[in-house]
Amino acid sequence: MGCGAKEAAVVVDLKQTVTLGFDCPACGKHRFSYVPESHDGRRWGPWYCDACGAGWCGTGTDMVEAARSRRVATYVLLKDPARDLYLVVRSGRTDPKWDDEEREQDRYFFEEHTCPTNFLGVDAAVLIENGWPDPDPHGVFKYVATVRADSIPVEEFNTGMTGHPDWMAVFGIKTKESEG
Ligand SMILES: [Zn+2]
Repeated sequence: MGCGAKEAAVVVDLKQTVTLGFDCPACGKHRFSYVPESHDGRRWGPWYCDACGAGWCGTGTDMVEAARSRRVATYVLLKDPARDLYLVVRSGRTDPKWDDEEREQDRYFFEEHTCPTNFLGVDAAVLIENGWPDPDPHGVFKYVATVRADSIPVEEFNTGMTGHPDWMAVFGIKTKESEG
């Protein structure tokens, strides 16, 4: 995953801004924290903007270059295998093709690779099986589906008491409510 060619290089003289980080050069809506000592003279990135998905990388503190790759925001639906408890997790794909391979990558990441603490926003998750505690329980939730964040109509975010979309409708999960 390389960065853009030199002529595409942008932009920001990090020597001016290194102490606290830099704002996304594309949209200015996301601030990257940047600790110059930890990247002293070395390649870093690509790091992706949470707001617009643009990727940035660079060398040391010399400058920021636009990455060739771009991050597209997604929502992933996970399910408790024991009952109908669903979780919606904001995620993303890099240069997505929306194919089965990426679906498998999402499934692998959420079912096998990552601990639930990484997406639940909690300090710990402990699974006790046969009396033994597992403080790093992977595969607790089943992967169901991924949707593009920009496929959800904006008005969906402005309806209802909570201002959230009808997530079950977004993911095509039938409920008694949706069946009317
Ligand atoms: Zn941005």
